[in-house]
Amino acid sequence: MNMSQRCQSLVLLVVSAISVGGCQKEESIEIDVSASVTAPERTVIAWVDAERIANADAEPENWLVHGRTNSEQRFSPLQQVNDATVNDLGLAWYVDLDTDRGQEATPIIVDGVMYSTSAWSKLQAVDAQTGVLKWQYDPEVPGIWNVRACCGVQNRGAAVWKGRVYFATLDGRLIALDAATGDLVWEVLTTDQAQSYTITGAPRIADGNIVIGNGGAEYGVRGYVTAYDLDTGEQAWRFYTVPGNPADGFEDATQEMAAATWTGEWWVDGGGGTAWDSFAYDPELNLLYIGTGNGSPWSRAIRSPGGGDNLFLASIVALNAASGEYVWHYQTVPGDTWDYTAVQHMVLADLEIDGEQRQVIMQAPKNGFYYVIDRVSGELISAENIMPVNWATHIDLESGRPVEVDGARYDETLATKKISPGAGGAHNWQPMSYSPLTGLVYIPAKQQPFIYRLNTEYERRSIGFNHGVNNWDPFDEVAELAPEFGADDQGHLLAWDPIAQEEVWRVSHSVSENGGVLSTAGNLVFQGNADGKLAAYTADSGQKLWSTNTQTGVLAPPVTYAVDGEQYVAVVVGWGAVFANASGALLNPEGDKRNISRILAYKIGGTAELPPIPVAAALPLPPADFGSESQIQAGAALYARNCLICHGAGAASGGVLPDLRHSPMSGEPSAFAQVVLEGVLEDNGMVSFAEVINADETEAIRAYVVRQANQ
Ligand code: CA
Repeated sequence: MNMSQRCQSLVLLVVSAISVGGCQKEESIEIDVSASVTAPERTVIAWVDAERIANADAEPENWLVHGRTNSEQRFSPLQQVNDATVNDLGLAWYVDLDTDRGQEATPIIVDGVMYSTSAWSKLQAVDAQTGVLKWQYDPEVPGIWNVRACCGVQNRGAAVWKGRVYFATLDGRLIALDAATGDLVWEVLTTDQAQSYTITGAPRIADGNIVIGNGGAEYGVRGYVTAYDLDTGEQAWRFYTVPGNPADGFEDATQEMAAATWTGEWWVDGGGGTAWDSFAYDPELNLLYIGTGNGSPWSRAIRSPGGGDNLFLASIVALNAASGEYVWHYQTVPGDTWDYTAVQHMVLADLEIDGEQRQVIMQAPKNGFYYVIDRVSGELISAENIMPVNWATHIDLESGRPVEVDGARYDETLATKKISPGAGGAHNWQPMSYSPLTGLVYIPAKQQPFIYRLNTEYERRSIGFNHGVNNWDPFDEVAELAPEFGADDQGHLLAWDPIAQEEVWRVSHSVSENGGVLSTAGNLVFQGNADGKLAAYTADSGQKLWSTNTQTGVLAPPVTYAVDGEQYVAVVVGWGAVFANASGALLNPEGDKRNISRILAYKIGGTAELPPIPVAAALPLPPADFGSESQIQAGAALYARNCLICHGAGAASGGVLPDLRHSPMSGEPSAFAQVVLEGVLEDNGMVSFAEVINADETEAIRAYVVRQANQ
């Protein structure tokens, strides 16, 4: 689409003040002839540059960067689909994806082409008008990486720049592809593959570099963020989110400052602080904001036994985008011990607060509070809880620190404690959306407490999830709190006033885990949910206007764009990820959850239809019960320790991975052992656990699974 076509469609679609203003200044989107990439023509497919991103509001038919604009607001000025027309929204097209794991991507749309990613780090280029797959790139991530990822093999999206598409892989690679052909341009390894670093987040573009973080704080790694040259893939800078072993020498004075807030031998378990999802970039300040994760292991009593704030865990850190040098930080949870990451979505906005215009950064991290922070200085402006919180009474605005509740540190009292929010957070990676029209932020919030008790036998291990907190062993006192966990589990779409710091409306869902959010100038908020529905609500009042059946749970955030004067609302669907897997029957009580991975796109008057939901094959009868009570109890504890995070509490499937209770292999000791000890299903992500489980223990796990099957 050329510039004049773009402006014609804008007039049809967009709030006039924004669109006409953008199109009158046609020359404001110029070709960057200084770039070293050849053929800098706007005719090049996916030609996106800094100027075009800075002026993204002038072309709302595109979704140029992860959060649509550098502000990451995920608000679209498009309004052909609005509170009067949304009832006519119908399916325009769909694309089947070739994986059956959770989908979390935000597609990028440039000039009628959609670039999205799917589980196992695959990338698709799709005609955004017809849904025809133009090409797919599969980086062929080995199955073993499934067991190194705490929360599944998801991928949250790509970045586009000057004719190339950039994305990262679960096994730590950053890849640049030719946007026209899908051919590989360059690939760099961003992690040490001998350690359990994984990447699920989308890269961001800042000051001529492409920036990527990583995950692994449940596996003993040291977090960092790296910037690479967009042209060549050469490393520009790296910032570590936690300090390393002082004996190795500090990288710079910032690391030395951070190390003063740690005690003991924190580097042995990596320290964590991984920046696995959220970034925001302010090109005028040239600041890159990174959200950092929890400690490794979770418990501060293990990680930093003499206490300390443990910088930069659970923080927003502002870096000079050119150099990666530290500028300021705000730590949401000093000395985190609850897996309270601050990697959650960050939004930039300009708000009038107490009569003063403030440039703010806003975040609802896992810990339950909503933060408004001055993004120039890092000064805390306000913080209030969006969901019930019982680990802190409030955030003290003078010191900027939470006031903790006595006894919340389970690892100091050594008591079993139910804490809200839990490790899943009052808000997790699912993006929120801020509408400058309503002045409200729409948050996919959760009530999802977690039962914490220190694992006093914690030790570093070579394989598997290892966080220093006991899991749900069904014969353990932890389990006695579990029914309350189920009763407490709820999800809400919250409309939150960030200036008044109060709720304006809410819509409640059946369970806690639902999709990310989009808001539009059509007075609409879109969100998918666990029950396989995509719905539109009025942005001002939360009235449900439209809903459609997606056939599978939705985690990813919707996006909107336009082609040839028609507005589309698109979302990548596919149930899965850690909560679906680990919670087992809690989230799947009817056994009807399923993964059908697709990209769905809707438009006014769309008439496409999804094929019927496949009829599930009848489950085979469970194998006959066997094993002594002591063997079953031992098996239950081993299962909770090694298997639950993927295969579900109680050995009950959350609807994505196979239900072990009904697996033929559970009735066949040699087949079960081949899977668990020999890794015959490694390509599917089920590696050998022989390093940490022996043959007798394997049989005990099988006895427990079969007992569960017969209950
Ligand atoms: Ca974590």
